[in-house]
Amino acid sequence: MLSEFTLISRYFERPARPDGRVVLGVGDDCALVQTTPGMQTAISTDMLVEGRHFFPGADPHLLGHKCLAVNLSDLAAMGATPIGFTLALALPSVEESWLAAFSAGMFALADTYGCELIGGDTTKGPLTISITVFGEVPAGQALRRDAALPGDDIWISGTLGDARLALAAYRKELSLSSEALDAVAMRMHAPSPRLALGTALRGIAHAAIDISDGLVGDLGHILKRSGVGARLDVDALPLGSTLQGQAQPLRRAFALAGGDDYELCFTASEQHRDVVLEAAQRAAIPVTRVGSIVVEPGLKLIDAGGTIIELSLRSFDHFSSL
Ligand code: ADP
Ligand code: MG
Repeated sequence: MLSEFTLISRYFERPARPDGRVVLGVGDDCALVQTTPGMQTAISTDMLVEGRHFFPGADPHLLGHKCLAVNLSDLAAMGATPIGFTLALALPSVEESWLAAFSAGMFALADTYGCELIGGDTTKGPLTISITVFGEVPAGQALRRDAALPGDDIWISGTLGDARLALAAYRKELSLSSEALDAVAMRMHAPSPRLALGTALRGIAHAAIDISDGLVGDLGHILKRSGVGARLDVDALPLGSTLQGQAQPLRRAFALAGGDDYELCFTASEQHRDVVLEAAQRAAIPVTRVGSIVVEPGLKLIDAGGTIIELSLRSFDHFSSL
């Protein structure tokens, strides 16, 4: 059996990157990070628990990707650039093949975005992965939830609902062809953090959030924090390609409240439509305009004909479902 320290040095300690921002990484009592003058540090933590956020026996390579991706998605939603992350890991037992695949999946994504593992903690316990990411954003330019203004357009990156479709298929709530399941499964297991879009929207977008628990709930956080309301054009929502083939009630429910999408929902002034589209093009991430921010509080869902539709949708909440 590996000792805790051999495990850490074998699977989680790597030579420092040459860019020099991380002065001291894994191995000392603390990591040391050189801050950049004029930048603010963005910090976020997300924890994934086996049986709660992922199925027991989940593929460790994909899991390594996903647990870092959901954290990077929070940096994207602030318009921050990644610097590094810490990893707190509880493992029921030491399985080297699991550790090798998990760390490979995690480091592949970390390297894509130049985000360095700078420390963590390792203990025995039910499989739990908690990551804290650190990023930076020019002072005053973070995309906050409390900055939406009446008259703003509401935009969504990429497409919604396919990850929820995969969950429905795994739960046997519906059946999909094996090709369709393969396609949507990747949306669920391997989300792409929209970092390039987040940074391209600095100084352009007003408010932003990443959609992890479903659009209605997550947009609701922007509305509450900004003290505004919204009209959402349900038929304008960009649907995942597999979801497009499903019946309308399911399309609407999964696009509005599916969860696990990791797309960005952001607001920007109507005058900046072209600027938003140019930023999205620079980031090579498509965006769709889906509604507008209004003074009157509350979220109104509207169909293509302009009729208000009543849907009872609940976004995901760990405690309300207990
Ligand atoms: P301490 O007891 O002083 O907190 P630890 O023995 O927990 O230190 O960890 C030793 C070193 O290994 C520290 O630099 C810590 O950040 C790092 N470390 C521990 N677990 C992990 C992990 N899962 N991933 C990355 N670094 C880790
Ligand atoms: Mg420790």
